Amino acid sequence: MLELKKARQELAAMPFAADVVSEAWERAKGKCECRRAPHSHVCYRCFRPLKWSSQGNRNDQFNGWQAYYRDGDSQNDALSNCEILCLQCYDYSLPNIKPG
Ligand SMILES: [Zn+2]
Ligand SMILES: [Zn+2]
Repeated sequence: MLELKKARQELAAMPFAADVVSEAWERAKGKCECRRAPHSHVCYRCFRPLKWSSQGNRNDQFNGWQAYYRDGDSQNDALSNCEILCLQCYDYSLPNIKPG
């Protein structure tokens, strides 16, 4: 669990610029963008509806979300590297976490 904590802290320490996040949010239409096959989403994409004001809100397990570094490089805050993920997908997608 230490590794997970560390990964979280690193990601939290280097947030995306606010305008990148809001553009990614527009692109995602306010829904989780995750398409990772191992997550067994009902559709090919997660599509969980999210709430803008619940970014990073761990108390909101239904509509909470995070901006995720798609390529794992927290220096790269390009729009194409910013993925809007619900908290469940975010946690499963963090480095050092293997689903299942
Ligand atoms: Zn999701
Ligand atoms: Zn997912």
